[in-house]
Amino acid sequence: ILQDKVALVTGSTSGIGLAIARALAAEGVKVMLNGFGPTDDIRSICEELGAVHDGADLSDASAIASMMQRCQAELGAPDILVNNAGIQHVSPVESFPTDKWDAVIAINLTAVFHTTRLALPAMKAQGWGRIVNTASAHSLVASPNKSAYVAAKHGVAGFTKTVALEAARDGVTVNCISPGYVWTSLVENQIPDTMKARGLTREQVMNDVLLAAQPTKRFVTPEEVAALAVFLCRDDAGSITGANLSMDGGWTAA
Ligand code: NAD
Repeated sequence: ILQDKVALVTGSTSGIGLAIARALAAEGVKVMLNGFGPTDDIRSICEELGAVHDGADLSDASAIASMMQRCQAELGAPDILVNNAGIQHVSPVESFPTDKWDAVIAINLTAVFHTTRLALPAMKAQGWGRIVNTASAHSLVASPNKSAYVAAKHGVAGFTKTVALEAARDGVTVNCISPGYVWTSLVENQIPDTMKARGLTREQVMNDVLLAAQPTKRFVTPEEVAALAVFLCRDDAGSITGANLSMDGGWTAA
């Protein structure tokens, strides 16, 4: 049933977004990729998936609008929108750089508003649509030194519920997935800052900070998140809307 549908997956040049793009493409979905990275790498992902790529910087509302127009022109209006792009910055709130705060809120939260408001009319008009937002365990609980990220992800969870209610009668479901720690560059890159902020070694950050929160004691895989995203796109998931689905190895159960 997903064959020939059109999906726009933001932040899909690496990590979780790339795994979601791969899983959707395997279902015969036509995918528009988005995100940064070396040109050669992006070209080979496009070839692998038969996908097109738009490098819109999601902190720029006009670039988002151009990306949405391009998707409509080249593939068709998105039937499936996966808001996945996200960045992290780790710092105590008193010294949190204000430009980093603005960037985290713009990319992790405001971009979700822009893509959603632009994609929803066509989904409603055809009576079918799927919006899947990558939130985080940090949409439900906090950790120190991640004020912008935690605020943005709580915002994504609230936004998801609101749009789910607005679209509930139109065949459009809106959900978020809240992974715990997934082994991607986003996690790898915050290890040095966390080492500095807490005065810990790399091993201590991995075992005592990251996996300390995760009762399974293993990182979630991007493929596990992708499998849930694909399920949410199926007709079988038509009654799941407004949900915040945890995939966190038991983190938020504790
Ligand atoms: P990642 O760094 O591997 O991927 C992030 C993607 O977003 C990349 O494709 C990157 O190019 C893109 N991106 C970054 N800034 C952008 C911008 N301004 N405009 C457009 N694209 C931009 O990280 P990931 O771990 O795969 O993260 C994906 C999502 O999953 C994020 O929303 C993140 O908050 C969330 N998440 C990650 C984890 C984790 O442990 N890795 C846990 C919970 C939630």
